[in-house]
Amino acid sequence: MADKVFELTPDMLDHNFADEVAPDRQKLLTCIQCGTCTACCPTAYAMHYTPRQIWRLIQLGLREEVLSSNSFWLCTACYACTQHCPRGIACTETMATLRRMAVSLGMEKLSSTAHFCAAFRDTVRRHGRLHDVEMITLFFGRAKGLKVVDYTRLGFTLWRKGKVSLDASRANVKELDQIEAIFRKVEQLEAQR
Ligand code: SF4
Ligand code: SF4
Repeated sequence: MADKVFELTPDMLDHNFADEVAPDRQKLLTCIQCGTCTACCPTAYAMHYTPRQIWRLIQLGLREEVLSSNSFWLCTACYACTQHCPRGIACTETMATLRRMAVSLGMEKLSSTAHFCAAFRDTVRRHGRLHDVEMITLFFGRAKGLKVVDYTRLGFTLWRKGKVSLDASRANVKELDQIEAIFRKVEQLEAQR
């Protein structure tokens, strides 16, 4: 989507969006579009909009365009963008806020990337670490429009290279109660926001 051109009309622009999303709106508005955040982002290559483009869309107030993108779902919270931004913009926090906002609006149901994240989270919660087969099953069960058959070749290649395990017994860890306690604590903190 790098070269998408927008025909902007006043009704497309939501000037409150930056206030709702950015921890520090004034700083976000000082973004000079230098692209450093995108250059150091490990997942920008797969995003609908790179971090730099996301900040510009937020500045303009293109709420739907931002929230329906996969960019914030692919953010790994590595903080590289925040660390290197010459304007001191809270890029990582802003990505996290977009994720929370999309969930609160039920928009995560539209995103296959969000389904992937949820399948990963639910599997880790149940087993303590990744259970490949369960996660793949959950993901394809939830993400509409994706056909398992389209991914068979990729799955086979990953399995052949030892990247995917069919051995479910490898997944369980002993300290499941501690893993569950971490998830509950995070839920508690999220509820306080
Ligand atoms: S590094 Fe900072 S100033 Fe540069 S484009 Fe990214 S957010 Fe904007
Ligand atoms: S925190 Fe997210 S957006 Fe920023 S560089 Fe890391 S993955 Fe990219």
